[in-house]
Amino acid sequence: MTFVRLADVARVHGEGATAVHALRGVSLEVGAGDLVAVMGPSGSGKSTLLNLAGGLDRPTSGSVHLGEQDLAEVRDLAALRRRSVGYVFQDRNLIDSLTAAENVMLPRELDGLSSGRARREAMAVLSELDAEDLAGRYPEELSGGQRQRVAIARALVGDRRLLLADEPTGALDTRTGDEILGVLRARCDAGAAVLLVTHEPRYAAWADRVVFLRDGMIADHSHVVTGSAR
Ligand code: ADP
Ligand code: MG
Repeated sequence: MTFVRLADVARVHGEGATAVHALRGVSLEVGAGDLVAVMGPSGSGKSTLLNLAGGLDRPTSGSVHLGEQDLAEVRDLAALRRRSVGYVFQDRNLIDSLTAAENVMLPRELDGLSSGRARREAMAVLSELDAEDLAGRYPEELSGGQRQRVAIARALVGDRRLLLADEPTGALDTRTGDEILGVLRARCDAGAAVLLVTHEPRYAAWADRVVFLRDGMIADHSHVVTGSAR
């Protein structure tokens, strides 16, 4: 079942002679249970593609559907994103005045969950990431890799059906990177649709498909031979 569908999506920044064509007519479907890696040189449109897929940005033309919903017709996009989309940013943007557990609880509390239930969900996902003992610490008390684990926990908490990860392993050591890929893969196998931007073939090898972007267009698709990383 297709969960995300981008149809002939273009995104232009600015106008006239200075216009930047970040994406030029990209069509892509990601099903529930699919992990699609997005690769391509810097500036090729990878982050733009993720932002459009998750409703953080709107296309200049073309359409984006999440399930049956056309994002152009969704009135409360913020609520839809919070419920359905987990986004792992390149910068970790945790809230400094909240503990790790409180950062992870926040999206669920904004959705109206009691803080007791939000805390139980937060602790469950933190332990999935081997980070339950970080729960009471503040971001400034965490290392870079620990902050990234907490940010990923926050992106995974609840039942997010679409996970978007923009170079989530960028600053991490190989072991932590592998663990995080393992968690994304497990969510995917449990039915999430996952889009993963990565420069690293070792991480792309966890994907079901790889999409190569060049100059805002899909230059190539490939099916990964399974078994290489798993
Ligand atoms: P990637 O993630 O592959 O490095 P991006 O999607 O970030 O690429 O950017 C694609 C192109 O769009 C680049 O040329 C970038 O400079 C441009 N771009 C992205 N965001 C903006 C913006 N807000 N305003 C102007 N140009 C932008
Ligand atoms: Mg980028």
